[in-house]
Amino acid sequence: MAFNAFSENTIVLHDGAKGAIVFDPGMSSPEEWKQFEEELNRRGWTPRALLLTHAHLDHVLGCAGMKARYGLLPRVHCEDQVTYSMAPKAAELYGVPMDPLPDLHPDSLVDGDCLVFGDLRLTIRWTPGHAPGHVVFVDEEGNRLVGGDVLFRGSVGRTDLPGGDAPTLVNSIQSVLYTMPGGMEVWPGHGPMTTIGEERASNPFINGEGTGMMQA
Ligand SMILES: [Zn+2]
Ligand SMILES: [Zn+2]
Repeated sequence: MAFNAFSENTIVLHDGAKGAIVFDPGMSSPEEWKQFEEELNRRGWTPRALLLTHAHLDHVLGCAGMKARYGLLPRVHCEDQVTYSMAPKAAELYGVPMDPLPDLHPDSLVDGDCLVFGDLRLTIRWTPGHAPGHVVFVDEEGNRLVGGDVLFRGSVGRTDLPGGDAPTLVNSIQSVLYTMPGGMEVWPGHGPMTTIGEERASNPFINGEGTGMMQA
């Protein structure tokens, strides 16, 4: 479901036991909350955990509402705690109204850890470059990953925001994402779904020779 002024994709995965794992809650208006809640009600799912790929403004706008409605606190990689604390400033800068952010969940996300929710197993992989504490969540069994703003269909995440770094992003994509099976689906933070194989073959921002050169 795409929400807020930045068209951010909020992703929800089912844990096989009527539980919903919610990633990057972007809900920012009563209409968007209604859409989110109706979709969950239709499926009979209840949110059980709240995970952030990273803490940019567009990915945290719904955090206050998730706490108020479901008592869930967001979990983030420790390197993105500072990004989270800067989100209210970013909201001011962009003129986007945002409720005060809740505390972060005390358990941060650690590279290589496996999170288990019912039938769902997610491996956390640290992929800095767009944000310092950016992670992706890999569902190996489901052959899909929640990718945030690292790799998009035909594009990559911007690296000009605080804590961003282009060579680091290239390295994350090449050493973490492009080493995965080609059929692995990428569900990004913006725009349509893609696969690792498709991007490895044709993404114009990372060259095909694997030399790590950014082409744009
Ligand atoms: Zn971002
Ligand atoms: Zn984003």
